[in-house]
Amino acid sequence: TVPVIAIDGPTASGKGTVAHGVAEALGWQVLDSGALYRLTALAATRRGVDETDEAALGQVALGLDVLFSSGRIYLDGDDVCEAIRQEAIGNLASRVAALPAVRAALLARQRAFRQPPGLVADGRDMGSVVFPDAALKVFLVADVEARAERRCKQLIEKGISANLADLLRDMRERDARDANRQVAPLAPAEGAVELDSSRLSARQTIQAILDLWKA
Ligand code: C5P
Repeated sequence: TVPVIAIDGPTASGKGTVAHGVAEALGWQVLDSGALYRLTALAATRRGVDETDEAALGQVALGLDVLFSSGRIYLDGDDVCEAIRQEAIGNLASRVAALPAVRAALLARQRAFRQPPGLVADGRDMGSVVFPDAALKVFLVADVEARAERRCKQLIEKGISANLADLLRDMRERDARDANRQVAPLAPAEGAVELDSSRLSARQTIQAILDLWKA
């Protein structure tokens, strides 16, 4: 079977950067599962689907017309890389991700990323629900302050105005919602190795995971 490295953790823990770095080092595929929830949120907004209409949101998730190509993400043929990173879409993603119909609809789509020679999957439930047989499970954490600072820097680098206090508040809210929801609450999967990146650079974190994989 195709090996999977599952990297789960809270928002802005650096999972995306780290998952891409590990995948690149190994020459493996990468799955940004959060992007699928963000794409569902964006598609629902564009279609005017009510965020409380679980059945309709499940249909939106099931029918997503998405293409991941050369680091870009296309929805219905439009490049939506920037659009899905907006805080408002991230917040809506975290609300639609609490709906079982949406999670169920995205399951097969996520598993289809498991292609040779291997897959690095980044998300919240990669090691627990989507790939419970992952060869290595990492639970990547970082202090909420470190995560808010990173997100703030990223946004400012992209020329988007950002306020640390607002980000910190949003991040605490999102953490609480991700941890307390009924379906797939955020928690380390069984057998996961906990890695704290608060004081590590992206490079050091990538290396730590490669060391765990080779060990
Ligand atoms: O990781 P990212 O911030 O892009 O994910 C957006 C939202 O999607 C998260 O706040 C979380 O609620 C949800 N999500 C999830 N399960 C995943 C990945 C993301 O519930 N595997």
